[in-house]
Amino acid sequence: MTTIAVIGAGQMGTGIAQTVAQHGMKVLLADLDLAHAEAGKAKVDKALAKLVGRGKIEADTVEAVLGRIEPVADYTPMSEASFIIEAATEREEVKAKIFEKASEVLAEDAIMASNTSSIPITRMANHSPDPKRFIGLHFFNPVPVMGLIEVIPGLATAQDTTDRTTAFAESLGKQVVLSQDEPGFVVNRILLPMINEAIFVLGQSTASIADIDKGCRLGLNHPMGPLELADFVGLDTCFEIIKVLFETTGDSKYRPAPLLVKYVEAGWLGRKAGRGFYDYGGEEPVPTR
Ligand code: NAD
Repeated sequence: MTTIAVIGAGQMGTGIAQTVAQHGMKVLLADLDLAHAEAGKAKVDKALAKLVGRGKIEADTVEAVLGRIEPVADYTPMSEASFIIEAATEREEVKAKIFEKASEVLAEDAIMASNTSSIPITRMANHSPDPKRFIGLHFFNPVPVMGLIEVIPGLATAQDTTDRTTAFAESLGKQVVLSQDEPGFVVNRILLPMINEAIFVLGQSTASIADIDKGCRLGLNHPMGPLELADFVGLDTCFEIIKVLFETTGDSKYRPAPLLVKYVEAGWLGRKAGRGFYDYGGEEPVPTR
């Protein structure tokens, strides 16, 4: 059975682990420690139970899928993995340490991939033992539902790595968009300026949270408004992405909205924190402004 390692068991790492295990592969799931990795697996359990409740999968599938996800305390067992996928917090220093540690166990023909939303792949490849086998593999949230993966070769990535990564992404039932290693790749380069602008609009009291989201849902035919979507992505992640766009291009159009910075400083990080632009304490999300 193919083994895939996933490092970082937050929103994205657990979604990746679930999707990979649902496609019949074994997953080694790591986070800061075993307790965090086990909490990640528990989140997958909850997500699968919801799918059973909605009649989307059979109850006995749950046991089989969970049986293929093994939370691990350290990276040693990852020497059997054909891909090590990093999906930890969007901070370069965090990711760099992970790559250096994972380099010690990466198998000779295995690929190291990052799910980063914005950090340059070419630069991060320097923390891997072989930049030819380092690549960006950008999933979308929620991973089990979203049909797209961006594949981002860095300058030194070998064509064989890009081909194998694309084949792996397609084996998960996803469609692939190939992006060069430019800030924000394709989708976030377009999305984040919109989210950031929506936060400027809110900060300037042009409209309420509910009206900004309603305006974009109905006026642009988007399924979610930009502030709902920002809460869904995580405001810390949004901030890190727009900061990378700003710092790597030097273009002032990417300057982070001051209100976004304030929300992150307050710890109001969106859905995962129970509060962002909306409050998630009740049955339905309630706009906070
Ligand atoms: P998250 O905050 O939900 O999860 C991050 C996880 O990383 C946490 O479980 C944390 O404990 C873990 N972590 C932190 N330091 C670690 C370390 N040293 N070793 C191992 N694990 C560590 O964030 P997320 O939304 O899952 O985002 C993770 C990555 O995926 C980021 O790079 C982000 O840019 C990217 N991404 C996010 C989205 C999204 O919509 N949220 C979409 C695509 C890609």
